[in-house]
Amino acid sequence: MALLRLLGTGTSDGIPMLGCRCPVCTSADTRNRRLRTSALVQTQDETLLIDCGPDFRQQALLYGIERLSAIVLTHHHADHIGGIPELRPLSKTGPVSLYASPHTNAVVHSSFSYIFSGKPTGGGLPKLNPVNISSPTAVAGLTLWPLPVMHGEDLIHGYRIGDMAYITDASYIPEETLSLLRGIKYLVINALREKPHATHFSIQEACAAAARTTASQTWLTHLCHMVDHAQTEASLPAGISLAVDGLEIEFDETAFPAIRGQSG
Ligand SMILES: [Zn+2]
Ligand SMILES: [Zn+2]
Ligand SMILES: [Zn+2]
Repeated sequence: MALLRLLGTGTSDGIPMLGCRCPVCTSADTRNRRLRTSALVQTQDETLLIDCGPDFRQQALLYGIERLSAIVLTHHHADHIGGIPELRPLSKTGPVSLYASPHTNAVVHSSFSYIFSGKPTGGGLPKLNPVNISSPTAVAGLTLWPLPVMHGEDLIHGYRIGDMAYITDASYIPEETLSLLRGIKYLVINALREKPHATHFSIQEACAAAARTTASQTWLTHLCHMVDHAQTEASLPAGISLAVDGLEIEFDETAFPAIRGQSG
């Protein structure tokens, strides 16, 4: 069995949002505090980070992340890559492979060009080994299936491992991707708020997308400050819950046919 731990479940601003005095941002309910969306997959021997947002350092301290086998990115936006400079201490002993679509890797390269410049600095540089993926790939002893989804006009990646799928920042799931989701039991999927949005699923849209999969349990992530946990949770259909920071989901990483590929 493997464990998916949600390191953050908040949208790009994080909750509370700076300068906001709304009921959710000032709520005493700790379930309304959300770091930027990211997750960790842990097996007996390996640790795979999904997205490395601006809260990565804080998340690593909170959850005791002391080493990473590999990193995989869903897409190129700042709330998913902003913590890449924080990887320096965790890549001291050798490069950590960074799996992403060619476009995401290109944006990482241009956003943090100093990391890839090869020029030494006083404190050293994060050691990263970018690897482009677009098909099932063996990563950290797991078989990682990229799930192409639309994020507004951008084609980005969700990922499937075994009987679990993790999709963030989607606004549309193509038919071909729904067939890649066949057989999943657990789904983490983004839902920004009640009101529709151009580049993110609303809660209703995420619930409808989940209903088209085989998942028996779904958690909604990448939530904004218009979502009060208690109030929204009470309105969700059976089998769908709001995610919270720190949530652990146990799943079977071998439940989907393994493929041959490079390891790393
Ligand atoms: Zn995002
Ligand atoms: Zn607010
Ligand atoms: Zn995004």
